Amino acid sequence: MTFLRARGVVKSYGPTPALRGVDLDLAEGETLAVTGPSGCGKSTLLHCLAGILRPDAGEVLYGGQRLDTLSETARSLLRRTDFGVLFQFGQLVAELTAAENVALPLLLAGKGRREARAAALEWLERLDVADVADSRPGEMSGGQQQRCAAARALVTGPKVLFADEPTGALDALAGERLLGQLTRVAHEQRTSVVLVTHDASVAAYADREVVLRDGTVDPSGLGVDLTTTP
Ligand code: ADP
Ligand code: ADP
Repeated sequence: MTFLRARGVVKSYGPTPALRGVDLDLAEGETLAVTGPSGCGKSTLLHCLAGILRPDAGEVLYGGQRLDTLSETARSLLRRTDFGVLFQFGQLVAELTAAENVALPLLLAGKGRREARAAALEWLERLDVADVADSRPGEMSGGQQQRCAAARALVTGPKVLFADEPTGALDALAGERLLGQLTRVAHEQRTSVVLVTHDASVAAYADREVVLRDGTVDPSGLGVDLTTTP
C-alpha cells in the first residue's frame, strides 16, 4: 500500500531550482533509498516529504491526505506523531545521557518519567547501545551516538523514518552497524524509511532506489529493485 506519495513536487530557493517536478511513491514498511550526486535535490525532497518544507507546486500525500496544504501547526503535530528524523549528526543533547535523550520525545508527548525511561532503555537495547544508557554523548563513539539518535527517532513509533545521510559522519564499520540495525528494526516494526544518501553501499540496504538528477527522478534509475536485481 502506498501511503506517502509525491506528485510533481517543485521547490526553488530564490532563483535556484532544487526540485523540478518529482513523482515518488513509498509503500508501508518499505525502505526507499533516494540517491544521486551532491546538489541534485535529495535533502530538499526529504524535507518536502517530511512536511518540513512546503513545495512551491505539486502535492505530497500522506495516507491519502494532502500534507503540503496543512497548516504549520497541523504539520508539526503530524511530524511529532507519525514521523521520525535522523540526520548526519545525531544532534543529541550534550548535557543529557543516552537514556534521557531517547526518553525526551516521550516526555514531550506527555508520558510519565518511568514509562519514558523504560521505553528508552528498550530502544537502546534494540539498537545495541544499552551499555551506554547512562553515558553522555561526549563519552560515546560516533557510531554509538548515531544509534542512540536512531533510538530517539524511533521511540515514538513513527510510521515513517526520514534519514538524511545518517552514516555520513561514521566510518564504514560503524555505518554498516547502524544501517544493519536500523533496517532490521524498521522491518520488524513495519516502519517505512526514506534513506537519503550519495553512497551506493548505503543505498544497498534499501528495498528500492530512486535516483535524482538535477531535481528530477532519473527514469533509468526508477524502480530498480535492489532485493531482486541479479
Ligand atoms: P542534495 O541533498 O542532493 O545535496 P539539496 O536538496 O541540498 O541537494 O540541494 C539542491 C539544490 O538547492 C542545490 O543547488 C543547493 O545548492 C540548493 N539549496 C539547498 N538548500 C538551499 C538553501 N537553504 N538556500 C539556497 N539554496 C539551497
Ligand atoms: P561503534 O562502531 O560501536 O560505534 P567504535 O568502533 O567507534 O564503536 O568504538 C568501539 C568502542 O570504543 C566503543 O564501544 C566505545 O566505547 C569506544 N569509543 C570509541 N570512540 C570513542 C570516543 N570518542 N569516546 C569514548 N569512547 C569511544
